[in-house]
Amino acid sequence: EHFLDRIEARDGELNSFITVTREQALRQADAADQAIAAGDHRLLTGLPIAHKDIFCTEGVRTSCGSRMLDNFVAPYTATVVENMAREGAIMLGKTNMDEFAMGSSNETSFYGPVRNPWDTERVPGGSSGGAAACLAARLAPAATGTDTGGSIRQPAALNGVTGLKPTYGRVSRWGMIAFASSLDQAGPLGLSAADCALMLQAMAGHDAKDSTCLNEPVDDYLGGLDQGLDGLRIGVPEEFFPDNLDGAIADNAREALRELEKQGAKLVKVSLPSIKLSVPAYYVIAPAEASSNLSRFDGVRFGYRCEDPKDLEDLYKRSRSEGFGAEVKRRILVGTYALSAGYYDAYYKRAQKVRRLIRDDFARAFKEVDVLMGPTSPETAFKLGAKADDPVNMYMADVFTIAVNLAGLPALSMPSGFIDGLPAGTQVIGNYFQEGRVLNVAHRYQ
Ligand code: GLN
Repeated sequence: EHFLDRIEARDGELNSFITVTREQALRQADAADQAIAAGDHRLLTGLPIAHKDIFCTEGVRTSCGSRMLDNFVAPYTATVVENMAREGAIMLGKTNMDEFAMGSSNETSFYGPVRNPWDTERVPGGSSGGAAACLAARLAPAATGTDTGGSIRQPAALNGVTGLKPTYGRVSRWGMIAFASSLDQAGPLGLSAADCALMLQAMAGHDAKDSTCLNEPVDDYLGGLDQGLDGLRIGVPEEFFPDNLDGAIADNAREALRELEKQGAKLVKVSLPSIKLSVPAYYVIAPAEASSNLSRFDGVRFGYRCEDPKDLEDLYKRSRSEGFGAEVKRRILVGTYALSAGYYDAYYKRAQKVRRLIRDDFARAFKEVDVLMGPTSPETAFKLGAKADDPVNMYMADVFTIAVNLAGLPALSMPSGFIDGLPAGTQVIGNYFQEGRVLNVAHRYQ
């Protein structure tokens, strides 16, 4: 009730939720009370969680921030949501997001932008902007998000909360609406690394319904949080501190590194030379996969259908023209172009080769160090509208996060103080399945 009341009071202004499931949440809270009274106390019993509106929820609309799915009620529930419910979590509602998770500011949502609670004239980041903003405003204590190129970490940084993108394959993607399937990964956002550890413990694990979900045992994330950092080797890639980086952002991340050094960590200079190609490679690969994934929205089987179609061709054309927003259309066009005969080798195949080089850079670095660190975002929260008409400038918001998705590594953004009253975030990247290590570093810092 506390959180539902706060949502009612504050969310008119912030717009962090698309749907609030008040009645269902209160019913689940009653069930949690009864479970506790009966001695059945699970990992998340009674914990209210805000789910990103990209996760299918049976009986509750799942819009993915798009007009295309404005009327879509899934007949089943995503594994992530189900795993958390099985551990006793309560669903507060579904959070606002960029349309089909494409964006870095939450401005592409069909439901309007989300406002950053630290300064409501500024964006919360994206695409999990609703998730991060509702945490920062204390409208929910915990949230889920998805990260294809930075969508958990960048909004976490811009709102002063913690967000973790797990290793690709650590968490099931079943029931999570697909954007770019080789990059998409679900993860937790919380007020601390410990909160994220608790949530990941419930989210992670094998799922036979997702063939990319790995069958590896889930570590004890909570148990490893307090480990000391003595002797930990932190790699500091020079590419994360380029000459043109905002001085205040660089200082902020260096300050966090110094704090960890005080706790016994060793800083090691490393280089990831191919990482400068991550944004261009991503903006070939992600749109290519998106153009394929989004072909299922044809006005026939899911969601929006235009009025009075003349024939089948007209039905497809108008349903998609009217149902998708501008950024989604841009991605579909770029993606189909990059995949088309004659251009495939020049763009898609080349981008895949770059992806391999980036992965190899990380592999080399992880022979020398335990984690890599740097700023999460090249800037703090920017003004609403500042990049809305400049896609390439918007794409650069993820310059420090995208390489991690191309490599499939786990990474977390932790709050590292403020710059001119706005939150800044520092990123901790781990080797495959080192979520525990990454959470441990963030927990010790916090
Ligand atoms: N901002 C990036 C994009 O628009 C990443 C989005 C995401 O991680 N879902 O593609």
